[in-house]
Amino acid sequence: MKIGDIAFDDRKMHLRIEMSEAEHCRTNEHPHLPDTLFDILPAIRNHRCDNEEALSFEAEAQDTEIPHLFEHLVIELQVQVNGGSLSGETSWDWTRDPHGWFHVSVDYDNRELALGAVWLAMRIINAIDDRRPDSIDMDTEIARLRGIALVPERRRGTALARALVADGGAVAR
Ligand SMILES: [Zn+2]
Repeated sequence: MKIGDIAFDDRKMHLRIEMSEAEHCRTNEHPHLPDTLFDILPAIRNHRCDNEEALSFEAEAQDTEIPHLFEHLVIELQVQVNGGSLSGETSWDWTRDPHGWFHVSVDYDNRELALGAVWLAMRIINAIDDRRPDSIDMDTEIARLRGIALVPERRRGTALARALVADGGAVAR
């Protein structure tokens, strides 16, 4: 899974997520993904979710597209730092786009926080999928995101770049 594109409008961040043919796009093929995510970030269990069968998010998450889980995760990470109520949407159209492409849109208040949340969400998903969730210390990560959100506007880009470098991380793999 990788981020193909990130764009912002006044209210929403728009991500294109690309999953390769070889990857299974749905969480029912990766059951440890939602289960571990709920363990390390319990607040996400209670997310509201509009889905076709009117399931709770906790039930829906057991068999949904991984980018949809990712959408909820990017929202929760921002809410952990800034509070508030954000919404998002995941869609795809493989008659128009290549197979495996998803479009995820989420609200944001702070652009740098949103980018930091995307980067952290990717690391969390990869860590869980690689069965090394212990490599993510959620309190430390949220504190780091909070630092990014608090930096005065003109210095924010630098702070995020520094956080990325400090961790040796890349947004996508
Ligand atoms: Zn949802």
